[in-house]
Amino acid sequence: MNLSDPDLFRQAALIDGAWIARPDMEVTNPATGRAIGTMPDCTDEETETAIAAADRAMVGWRARTHSDRADILMRWYQLMLDHAGDLAQILTAEQGKPLAEAKGEVIYGASFVRWFAEEARRINGKIIPSPLPGKKIFAMKEPVGVCAIITPWNFPIAMIARKVAPGLAAGCTMVVKPSDFTPYSALAMGVLAERAGIPAGVLNILTGRPEAIGGALTASPVVRKLSFTGSTRIGALLAQQCAPTLKKMSLELGGNAPFIVFDDADLDAAVEGAMVSKFRNGGQTCVCANRILVQAGIHDAFVAALAKRVDALTVGPGTEAVAIGPMINAAAIAKIRDHVADAEAKGAARATAARDLPDAYADPVVLTGATLDMRLATEETFGPVAPIFRFETEAEALEIANGTPFGLAAYFFTRDMARAFRVAEALEFGMVGLNTGAISHAEAPFGGVKSSGLGREGAQEGIEEYLETKAFHFGGL
Ligand code: NAP
Repeated sequence: MNLSDPDLFRQAALIDGAWIARPDMEVTNPATGRAIGTMPDCTDEETETAIAAADRAMVGWRARTHSDRADILMRWYQLMLDHAGDLAQILTAEQGKPLAEAKGEVIYGASFVRWFAEEARRINGKIIPSPLPGKKIFAMKEPVGVCAIITPWNFPIAMIARKVAPGLAAGCTMVVKPSDFTPYSALAMGVLAERAGIPAGVLNILTGRPEAIGGALTASPVVRKLSFTGSTRIGALLAQQCAPTLKKMSLELGGNAPFIVFDDADLDAAVEGAMVSKFRNGGQTCVCANRILVQAGIHDAFVAALAKRVDALTVGPGTEAVAIGPMINAAAIAKIRDHVADAEAKGAARATAARDLPDAYADPVVLTGATLDMRLATEETFGPVAPIFRFETEAEALEIANGTPFGLAAYFFTRDMARAFRVAEALEFGMVGLNTGAISHAEAPFGGVKSSGLGREGAQEGIEEYLETKAFHFGGL
């Protein structure tokens, strides 16, 4: 890395305003497999110290005016933009995504900080008419309390921004545990948060083994909320761990997004949408198209156009001008290759040229003839694999699309307005994109139904996740 501000690269946890450095664990660059630094493996005691610090800091932080917290968040937003180049370099070094995409993530993440800085000043309660004379009822909004935040490796800056900014805006304090694969982006955000004026103890960032830290955070009665993004398996486990202390929970979990192309779609727009939805971050996003359903009449033209675009994708280290970087780790690559092998064994055919890539990379591929008995029909591939399922009727497409326990994102392409509303309403997903492959903005509610989780991030809903409503009954009037 060639950082203009090397102080942003911290190999230390942030606890109560102190940076704790200990070379307990290594972090590797997925492109090279070489270590880029170390981090402490925070102990149970350190987790308790962070929770206690967040608890103490709540008193002062929630007492600040909303506009004061908004100003601090706005400074944090501006610092993220000012340091976008360095943040992107850190992100690419630990996560692998191409630098241009990393910079896009920083700007996207910053947009949430700005949005929630603005929302901080609009945390309004309401006055409710009383059924009895001489009384008024107020519904007042209050911060939930100390929050535990656990984030994955695929969007290490954006996921933190999307959770921490609304929490801080609401007046909560935070103990954050980023993925072991990508701690440095979170820690750089911590440096900038300090510079923005976020007081000691308000934002704590722990590194280390997730089971131990997650266990201590979920067991603590002081922690009143958990916000988690990651797999459905770990989300369900954490929900169980939170049950004895009944915490408020936001869970952004796995997806299995259908991407439906109807015969009357604009072909170019559908292909562009598929490229955006499927290949961003090398296919390692929870809203990635996982199953591409194409109606018979447009099938061959769509496959030909998509395969041409996919064959043109460049693959290599994220520091070079490539479209797809390395996958996060060997387990991810093994899963992607297993999905492709399983599909080919069951009759799928490659519509794209095979490549001979080094071990860190996955081959971007379009597979035709996908069927429901293949693993990629029911599991998230989380890689650059575009399986095409051919269908005949709208009813058949909807049955396949909804035939999953997941309900995060769905996309469809049509120029028929009646079908647009019919299909949007019939899709059992938290987010639906019509004629677009991009569905995530700070202004829009983000989240899923069914096994894809609970709660929403972004939008006005995003800050509600960090608020409780207190009913204040005012008598004797
Ligand atoms: P994961 O294994 O569930 O990990 C997510 C986070 O949980 C990481 O920080 C991980 O730490 C931590 N973790 C793992 N085991 C834990 C435990 N026992 N206790 C506490 N924390 C624990 O998921 P992943 O494979 O990294 O991420 C990909 C998944 O996230 C996909 O399923 C994807 O769809 C989903 N996702 C969902 C959204 C959404 O908004 N719905 C967004 C992005 C990703 P380590 O990384 O250090 O192991």
